[in-house]
Amino acid sequence: VSGGGPDPDAALQLVGVQAGYDGAPVLRGVGLTVRPGEIVALLGPNGSGKSTTCKVAAGLLAPAHGQVYVAGAAAGRQGAVRRARAGVVLAPEGRGIFPSLTVDENLALRLPLKKDRSAVYARFTGLAARREVAAGSLSGGEQQLLALAPLLHAPPRVLIADEPSLGLAPRVVDEVYRLLAELRDAGTGLLLVEEKASEILGVADTVAYLTQGRVTWCGPREQVETERLTDAYLGIAAAGKAER
Ligand code: ADP
Repeated sequence: VSGGGPDPDAALQLVGVQAGYDGAPVLRGVGLTVRPGEIVALLGPNGSGKSTTCKVAAGLLAPAHGQVYVAGAAAGRQGAVRRARAGVVLAPEGRGIFPSLTVDENLALRLPLKKDRSAVYARFTGLAARREVAAGSLSGGEQQLLALAPLLHAPPRVLIADEPSLGLAPRVVDEVYRLLAELRDAGTGLLLVEEKASEILGVADTVAYLTQGRVTWCGPREQVETERLTDAYLGIAAAGKAER
């Protein structure tokens, strides 16, 4: 989970990361490693720092202490630039979509070749049917698929997905998760945040619990029995509330 220097085999690594807002600490020493072809799911109660971890990992928030490594290289001050080169994508709902452009125009910006767009339409027929529609008027699920589908064409080294199932119909959630699993199989290292544990269990390789800005448990998904997960999860949530 943590360690001294960067792990050259890691897709994404956070070492002793402390970060917060306006001097108020939120992350109090987060250590986390995501390997290529691995989905690491971050679980924890509201306010434990999951979104903040995503922001730091994606280079949107600089850590006060600690380091973020992408593919073994320290992010440093040029973090955002380096992460962009390494293919870090932060993809919460609808991220990276131009709402006033059509579906086809949005795809064309990311997949210039017509045959590549055709491949997306062949698989995501719902998008094909709406290719001349403004992206902003798509459903949340369609927007999510429009944001994620082009990634299959050129899988990034790292993908950070902050609550990708938020507000989506169950059928679309399945489709989004299939897509994330395919990216994993293509070698992308995924950091995945969900509020609901049930969403995670089908897809995660590794589960990490975040409690009040620290990783308090991290292990393979198989070691997380549903019952224990629920207990631990609710226990953490209750402890968090009690200390507020
Ligand atoms: P989680 O994703 O686990 O719900 P967050 O990382 O969103 O947790 O939030 C952790 C803490 O940081 C919360 O107490 C929250 O109020 C605070 N926080 C989050 N974003 C900001 C912000 N932009 N400015 C100030 N405080 C924030």
